Amino acid sequence: MPEPVRLTFLGGLGEIGRNCACIEVDGRLLILDCGLMFPDLSMPGVDLVLPDFSWLRQNAGRVEACVLTHGHEDHVGALSFLLRDLSFPIYGSELTLGLARSRIEEAGLLDQTELIPVQDGERRMIGPFDVEFIPVAHSVPHGFAIAVHTPQGVILHSGDWKIDLTPIDGRRTDLARIGSIATTEGVRLLLADSTNAEEPGYTRSEQEVGAVLSELFGQARQQRLIVACFASHLHRIQEIADAAREHGRVIATLGRSMAKNVALGRELGLLSIPDSALIDVERIAEYPPERVCVISTGSQGEPMSALSLMAAGDNRWVKLGPGDTVILSSHAIPGNEHSVGQVIDGIHRLGADVIHSGLAAVHVSGHAKQGEIKTLLGIARPDYFIPIHGEFRHLTHHTRLASAIGMPDERILLCEDGDVVELTDDGVDFAGEVPAGYLYVDGIVGDVGRGVLRDRRVLAEEGVVIVVVTVDARTGEVVAGPEVITRGWVYAPEAEGLLEEARKVITVSLEDAAAQGATDFETLRRHVRQAAGRFVQERTRRRPMIVPVVMEV
Ligand SMILES: [Zn+2]
Ligand SMILES: [Zn+2]
Repeated sequence: MPEPVRLTFLGGLGEIGRNCACIEVDGRLLILDCGLMFPDLSMPGVDLVLPDFSWLRQNAGRVEACVLTHGHEDHVGALSFLLRDLSFPIYGSELTLGLARSRIEEAGLLDQTELIPVQDGERRMIGPFDVEFIPVAHSVPHGFAIAVHTPQGVILHSGDWKIDLTPIDGRRTDLARIGSIATTEGVRLLLADSTNAEEPGYTRSEQEVGAVLSELFGQARQQRLIVACFASHLHRIQEIADAAREHGRVIATLGRSMAKNVALGRELGLLSIPDSALIDVERIAEYPPERVCVISTGSQGEPMSALSLMAAGDNRWVKLGPGDTVILSSHAIPGNEHSVGQVIDGIHRLGADVIHSGLAAVHVSGHAKQGEIKTLLGIARPDYFIPIHGEFRHLTHHTRLASAIGMPDERILLCEDGDVVELTDDGVDFAGEVPAGYLYVDGIVGDVGRGVLRDRRVLAEEGVVIVVVTVDARTGEVVAGPEVITRGWVYAPEAEGLLEEARKVITVSLEDAAAQGATDFETLRRHVRQAAGRFVQERTRRRPMIVPVVMEV
């Protein structure tokens, strides 16, 4: 009887981001992707969100390797953090490793980390894991679906994927290989991308964007053109570059990651832009504006990106004006709509024109929609199915698609971050939980923690009131103060009366406490906090953070 195989989900099931799962065979662990998530507005000051790695740290000795599906940050961006505590080899396509490398290098961990490139269709043993790398089309080149041939049958992980029958690089999702696994060994368990599970139909081919861009370039003949897209979307960059060359423009990149990825793409032969067509952005003023095309980062409205600075009139190299057209070849990721809107506004204010995906078909998704999702389910014909990569609603809709094509409900598992499932001869079932909360990173210090975030939200929304008072340690009598200091509650110079009243109320409360014989520091602090809190709430209907500072003499 073959031994059980376990799967542990550390992230990506309940959010778009921090994708990370582990397969366990023979007591060894194979990590599938290790991504980060970008913070939303409810996480003030947070730079990044990571999976909780405590379970992996506890099992450090059992980690065999990490396998990467593709090079997006939500799949590779957390490696540099995990590699501080654990050491393991990393497998992926050459481009994926190239994209993952820079963060690992920045963290100073490249020397001790083995990066092992694999080819399309390659199948190799990694410890006890029999791993096959199946090509898929996505919005970054050289993505993989991963098939792990285990003692309990094949676990097929779709990676991020779509069906593009006319991809820019001719590298299609290898549905034939998936079908062949289905008809020979069979797929025991399918894990598949849920991002677009709510979207009917099929994702359009990337090539359609190229045609639209070329048309827009034709219409804006007299304008200088600035096109923003994801720096890792090398296919899109190729299409922009092709449209530029077709219309007699030189190309300059703007933004650090754009320059880096264009260099990497050209080095790997994935981008074909001749030297003669590329100029340094410092030199664009030497060319007539209608002969220049700038390819820029910042399509998500990221605050310090090249495009945001441009929209604020602060970019060193590109000053926007009426002679410019900016194309946002992108779609705002949920949570970024507001920042993107502000960027678009800023560009209009400077007199330049903006074309975005709401006005022209300048973007297509990198993820499978319902038609493609059902196609994969139909071809893979898995015994069991678990939707991955999505918010809870995406996962839910994905389970409905599986039901719709006839999968029995008891073979569809709706898992969340932290769930452990076990594959045995009897089937696939839940088998426990591990910690999988959010790990918030701010600056270079690790976990910020929920408490800190709660404090930051209160400070941002309600402000702070600090009460400083000095008491006699023996009698509890007030020796100095109370002094009331505030930021963000009321504008102090205009609210002297209110602050004076607060002082009185707090003094009375401390006198009461002293009369009851309270002299200890904690009790006095509590009195100050309660008196100040009640007063502030009653008089202003606000709930700032109250910080009592009681000093004893
Ligand atoms: Zn992803
Ligand atoms: Zn992706």
